[in-house]
Amino acid sequence: MKDKDKTKKQLINELEEMRQKVTELKAIETEHEFAEKELRQTKEYLDNIIESSLDSIVVTDSKGYIARVNRFFLKLTGNREDEVIGKHIAAFSPPKEGIYKTTTGELVQINQEFFNAIAIRSSSLIENGKIPLWETYLIRKDKKLVPVEENIVYLFDSEHNIIGAVGSIRDITKRKKVEKEFIKVRDSLKNKVIEMSIINDISEVLLSTRKLNEILHMILIGATSYHGLGFNRAFLFLINKEKHILEGKIATGSLSAEEAYKIWSQLKPASHTLKEILKSRHGELSKEDAPINELVKQMQIPLKGTETVFTHAVFKQKSYNIINGKHNRFVDNAFLRILGTDSFALVPLVARGKTLGVLLADNFVNRKAISDEDVKRLRAFANHASLAIENSHLYKSVEEKVEELSSAYNELKKNRDKLLRYERLSAVGEMAAKVAHDIRNPLTAVGGFARRILKTDQGRALNKKYMKIIVKEIDRLEKILGDLLCFTAPAVPDFNTADLNSIIKSTFEILDLEIEQNNIILKEQLDPHLPQLLIDENQIRRVLNNIIKNAIEAMPEGGTITVSTAVEGQLVKTEVHDTGVGISDNDIGKLFDPFFTSKSTGSGLGLTLSAQIIRNHGGTIEVRKAEHKGTIFTLKLPVKTLPG
Ligand code: ADP
Ligand code: MG
Repeated sequence: MKDKDKTKKQLINELEEMRQKVTELKAIETEHEFAEKELRQTKEYLDNIIESSLDSIVVTDSKGYIARVNRFFLKLTGNREDEVIGKHIAAFSPPKEGIYKTTTGELVQINQEFFNAIAIRSSSLIENGKIPLWETYLIRKDKKLVPVEENIVYLFDSEHNIIGAVGSIRDITKRKKVEKEFIKVRDSLKNKVIEMSIINDISEVLLSTRKLNEILHMILIGATSYHGLGFNRAFLFLINKEKHILEGKIATGSLSAEEAYKIWSQLKPASHTLKEILKSRHGELSKEDAPINELVKQMQIPLKGTETVFTHAVFKQKSYNIINGKHNRFVDNAFLRILGTDSFALVPLVARGKTLGVLLADNFVNRKAISDEDVKRLRAFANHASLAIENSHLYKSVEEKVEELSSAYNELKKNRDKLLRYERLSAVGEMAAKVAHDIRNPLTAVGGFARRILKTDQGRALNKKYMKIIVKEIDRLEKILGDLLCFTAPAVPDFNTADLNSIIKSTFEILDLEIEQNNIILKEQLDPHLPQLLIDENQIRRVLNNIIKNAIEAMPEGGTITVSTAVEGQLVKTEVHDTGVGISDNDIGKLFDPFFTSKSTGSGLGLTLSAQIIRNHGGTIEVRKAEHKGTIFTLKLPVKTLPG
């Protein structure tokens, strides 16, 4: 029984122990469950962080093999998850040197430097445990490079052993594109500013001259001076259309390198602005440029036949940055030998769409490489220079046109004179009728009175009266015929030196009687210092006679005639002023017209003839109304001397 009891007790104890163990185990299990839940939550949390990160995340083990990535990394590299997990991180870097396309749309050269940079970064990662903001390239599945910015950190365990690395990678394609655009804009702005200031300086000075040679010189100075485009040498060629060639016109720079260094070393650092240089040299090239100018003038580049950079520059208006011209099939090797270098910039000179020639520039002396920017700038410069060249051409052709026009004008004038003569001849016909009419009256009178004298002896007194009438009428006939003859065939002036004052005086003497009979007072205001004139004395006397006679006829009630002479510069002025009836506004414009007369017995030819004579003398005749009463005629004759 005792045994039995013991066993029972023991059993109870054991049971109790077991119960306790179960409770303990349960507690542990709950703890585990809890821990597991926590772990799951943490993992989810981490997953969440990784997945919701806007950057690509890649997690590797300590050797760099990829353990985890997020979807952005897959998107960035263009891979599926199974193509990525387990791969080494280096598989997503450009594998070797070479030229790669990038997602920014340009080509990049991956060289040894790139791999060196990776090595440096890796050692810094080991040293510092992290690499912040590292710009590099990842390679996509399609072999394109993506510019990225990486942040990499090592992961350590509690014993400070590296257990892996986490990289967050950002695609910076867009930023790079913007940066590229920005740099482009900034550079082009910078270039524009330089360009503008050069062009501004140059155009200002270029516009100051129209002489082609000066313009061409200034273009070369602009292309080669330190403050200009800074090329070592420049050559200017213009098209010769007839010969189908580019003709070397002028050049600046040195022929040989030794000479160049000599000049270069003498040159002080440029202390003047381009404008100052251009102004001070005033289109003069320096004497050092003489030999190269000799050379360029012998250069003739054919534009027919073989295609060359020159034909392309001229006909396609293309610019060239020739590097290694020897290997360029469009560049003539013989030309390169003359030039002494096989790298040069070539731009067309284009004005208003037309090619005028080309501008070639090189860095023969310092052998500096010519950049595409340099060529661009040279082209912009050439465009402005071309305008100046074109303007000078235009100016020249305008000058030629003016000359043409003036010779055409002279021709026209000759023709007009001819025409006037023809007109006059045709007027003769018209006049004949008028003359017939005019001379019928005096002729009838003369005939009548003569017949009366013949028929009857009417006594001496009456006969004398008739005779007087006859003489008067015959005078009239003579005058009409005289005017007519002069008019139809104006005599070529027979120039001789003569004294105008004397001619005036003798004219008055002839008209003495008429002046007296008409109660006219004569005033002479003759300049005693008149020079001798080269004139046809008879013709001028005829003019004066006409004018004074008109004046007398304008003063039937009497009046005053004032005649004055005076020197006026290169002219001698004669004025005849009467106090007669004057001329109406309506008539004053017709005075010099043939046949214009207000007189019943006038021919209307006196002033026409007078004007013709004065014109033949190179002078002028004008009429104006006198201030108070009457008319003023003004004659101006040039003071000429006998040639020789
Ligand atoms: P004519 O004397 O035969 O009429 P002219 O050619 O000499 O021809 O003159 C033309 C006209 O001009 C005259 O008829 C007259 O009407 C006008 N005329 C010319 N001179 C004078 C003058 N001094 N005063 C007023 N009228 C004048
Ligand atoms: Mg008259």
